[in-house]
Amino acid sequence: MALVNTEAIVLRTYNLAEADRIALCLTRSSGLVRAVAKGARRMKSRFGAALEPFTLIKLAFYEKENRELVAVSSAEIIKSHFNLAAQVETSQVLAYMGELVAEFAPPHEANEKLFRMVAACVEALETSAGRADLVLRYFEVWLLRLAGLFPDVRFCADCGVRLGEGETANLDVEVKPHCQKCSRGPATRLSMETQQMLVATQRLPPAEFAAGFKEISEQSGAQLSELTHRLIVRALERRPRTLVAATQ
Ligand SMILES: [Zn+2]
Repeated sequence: MALVNTEAIVLRTYNLAEADRIALCLTRSSGLVRAVAKGARRMKSRFGAALEPFTLIKLAFYEKENRELVAVSSAEIIKSHFNLAAQVETSQVLAYMGELVAEFAPPHEANEKLFRMVAACVEALETSAGRADLVLRYFEVWLLRLAGLFPDVRFCADCGVRLGEGETANLDVEVKPHCQKCSRGPATRLSMETQQMLVATQRLPPAEFAAGFKEISEQSGAQLSELTHRLIVRALERRPRTLVAATQ
């Protein structure tokens, strides 16, 4: 058995047997892991509140060969997000993020960019009061992009011409971006705002993104969420269970 020490974000927990809990964690060094915390449901558990959803923790766990579950050795809080988890709206946002990370992150495969992105988005929720939707759009775009499922709207997929300077992308039914000349059949033309938001996700951290676009028009916000949700539903082949009004 190897002991692994890493930072981790608790995505969700569920009960196991009488006193134990399983924590689904996105870890920095090992990607997605399902960790058994023995006795975590007892009143005086040594894990305390460390396994509350979206807490950033220092996690030590034992890995067994050929076993999907790992065993928590210790869990210490680095940063908790109790206030987010305590409010209905942000708790729904966190549940949605948790469901998507659990679906998109391959088990036991480290992804530094994904880990940093999720941690930054949770942090951004703390500072982007009332604009959780913008943090979520950023999160969705990056989750899809890191999975290789998000189109690069800066260029026409056919002729390679640069888009965004006077001309926005036309997305076909396959969500491939085209310039006006190459566009064939039914297509969705991105608004200039939507195009700018998508380009901005590539250079801004999520809190700055949410602050920079807080005056965005309702139509562009709706166009972006329609696009990310279409791609997510296509990737999962179902609607996320946690997609509710607060996460639109
Ligand atoms: Zn073209």
